[in-house]
Amino acid sequence: SFTAMMITDAGEHRTEAAFRPLTREELPDLPVLVEISHSTVNYKDGLALTGKGRIARRLPMVAGIDLAGTVVESASDAWAPGDEVILNGWGLSETEWGSYTKYQRVKPDWLLRRPEAFSAEQAMAIGTAGYTAALCVDALLGWGAIAAEGPDVLVTGAAGGVGSVAVALLAALGYPVAASTGREETQDYLSRLGARSFVARADLSEPGKPLQEERWSGAVDVVGSHTLANVLAQTCYGGAVTACGLAGGADLPATVMPHILRGVALLGVDSVMAPQDKRAAAWDLLARHLDKGLLSEMYTVHPMSDLPDLARDILAGRIRGRVVVEIG
Ligand code: NAP
Repeated sequence: SFTAMMITDAGEHRTEAAFRPLTREELPDLPVLVEISHSTVNYKDGLALTGKGRIARRLPMVAGIDLAGTVVESASDAWAPGDEVILNGWGLSETEWGSYTKYQRVKPDWLLRRPEAFSAEQAMAIGTAGYTAALCVDALLGWGAIAAEGPDVLVTGAAGGVGSVAVALLAALGYPVAASTGREETQDYLSRLGARSFVARADLSEPGKPLQEERWSGAVDVVGSHTLANVLAQTCYGGAVTACGLAGGADLPATVMPHILRGVALLGVDSVMAPQDKRAAAWDLLARHLDKGLLSEMYTVHPMSDLPDLARDILAGRIRGRVVVEIG
């Protein structure tokens, strides 16, 4: 048997996350058996493990939404033993058993070949957060409003996982990046990633006017709520803002004014069910442009036993950048 982090029913509509022994025979009846070497902790993993968000929709559930590993057995022609793979999302830790376990069985369509540019550890340093940042950047590039000569592209929650990778990727692509953070002490770090100006988190988190001074050609928002409303109100004529997160709240107390008077676009970004061509484009963007030296500054590596602490830390906004979890 091996150890898995499992979410179980604790009664009274509560769940509990704890390490449990698991055997291969207990795994779901799916075609590809993967030996997992690395995983990570995303905001959603924090919600699932602490029970602060209803992530697991059937119990018991193996937690963890991201994995990097090696195919051990495959009943599908698409994969063979020895293939190095990654998996982001596809309902893991929600409706499908997830990645905090040495072995897992998965559907062949969920797997991507691990990009040659990245080791398993680096692929999980990117993980869902980083690949979502790339989806956001790809969406802004597709919209066509951001330009090397400016105005700045804003990233909110910049010192977090999605934010750090978005800052580094946009800067590497040659765009001027403004970083919004609530942690002043992360400014040196964000400067190294490529941010050239800063906005205090508090300047964006209070209710503001429907239309404000035009400051951003585009933005990557992970915060939601008043922050997203203010970012929309500060986006230049014809610009676009991606929304992927709710670190500050799931509401959107905004008006239509930026959209109907300035043609500003709000681009929704989902990583979980994103089709494979979008995933491949996002990982390709990362493989071609994300600097490995900067990536190494963005993460720390932890044993599986740290998962409960890491879950609490990410929800409390105490994690800078990303964390990698070694499995087994
Ligand atoms: P993370 O590492 O915790 O980053 C979130 C950052 O937001 C924090 O580091 C902090 O940045 C800022 N923040 C935290 N609480 C805040 C608050 N109350 N008000 C304003 N800012 C706050 O999490 P992550 O893994 O990057 O995920 C970020 C968000 O994106 C989460 O909501 C997550 O659920 C979402 N997400 C969605 C998808 C999708 O498919 N749509 C995929 C990945 C992530 P500073 O300290 O710099 O201020």
